[in-house]
Amino acid sequence: MDFKLTVLPGDGIGPEVMAEGLKVLNAVAKKYKHSFEYQYGLIGGCCIDKEGVALSPETLAMCKKSDAVLLAAVGDPRFDDPKLPVHPEDGLLALRRGLGIRKATDSMTYSEKEIERIVRVGFELARSRKKKLVSVDKANVLLSSRLWRQIVIEIAKDYPDVTVEHILVDACAMKLILAPTYFDVIVTENMFGDILTDEASMLAGSMGMLPSASLAGIPAKGTKTFGLYEPIHGSAPTIAKQNIANPIATILSIAMMLRYSCGLETEAAEIEAAVDKVLAAGYATIDIFKEGNTRLGTAEMGSQIAKIIGG
Ligand code: NAD
Repeated sequence: MDFKLTVLPGDGIGPEVMAEGLKVLNAVAKKYKHSFEYQYGLIGGCCIDKEGVALSPETLAMCKKSDAVLLAAVGDPRFDDPKLPVHPEDGLLALRRGLGIRKATDSMTYSEKEIERIVRVGFELARSRKKKLVSVDKANVLLSSRLWRQIVIEIAKDYPDVTVEHILVDACAMKLILAPTYFDVIVTENMFGDILTDEASMLAGSMGMLPSASLAGIPAKGTKTFGLYEPIHGSAPTIAKQNIANPIATILSIAMMLRYSCGLETEAAEIEAAVDKVLAAGYATIDIFKEGNTRLGTAEMGSQIAKIIGG
């Protein structure tokens, strides 16, 4: 199959982890005879340097014409001064807004339609996995959470095969540490999600381990939806250009892209299994290194995973 992807390596460790992600994707493409056309674009600090903006309208237009967008990370300490007119992170917000895949406001405004869209994604994911969904809110305090819970209860009627549990965000933060395997799919609003994903990343050992996807549609089995795929971490400028960043979060983001935007479940599972194998064999970048492990650099970790896939 042929796919057109927009690739946005961004700043800091972004280009390094993206190179390893694409190394693994190329191995999958070769093995399964798919063709991925990569169109590269600038976002973040590198884009401000060249074009004076954090994301150009041309790059956004290119993203919109792709099957999916792969983003590594944005952020550059040279632009940390809040008085500067433009910041690398502006590119991220413009991208998400421009692609219509994520919406958030400081006043935590959610429309019924928006909640329904997010919650349905959660139910569909749960249905395709362990049929267990935890909805996280703060319904004892926040009006927006009460609306959230009400809508989850309504939509649950369409998914009788999925078990739903409502947990308050503070209790969820505690239970994630106490019993992480209790959870499978969690659905929640933007700010709670941001906090809980960073907490969960520490359970996995490092920010460099966790992928993410922002989806435009509902990822029901056998369907494809446009998405933006990126590791949850930032540009980690202090470890950039040293071949020490962990590329696994980017590689697993590519697995999610294959599953949800390309409809390639077998290929996605193959990447995830290759990552599991490499970790089980004791290979580790420095962020997840433990006694007895074999230490690998960014490029070596990408190569090890690509080698297991073959291609
Ligand atoms: P960060 O995620 O870049 O780094 C947090 C910590 O995790 C650091 O200690 C870093 O060294 C480590 N880390 C991150 N990714 C890693 C990897 N792949 N392998 C090994 N270690 C890794 O967050 P930060 O330090 O708060 O922010 C740095 C810059 O990134 C800022 O400019 C920030 O605005 C930006 N940022 C961008 C995004 C994004 O692009 N989505 C997200 C968060 C932060």
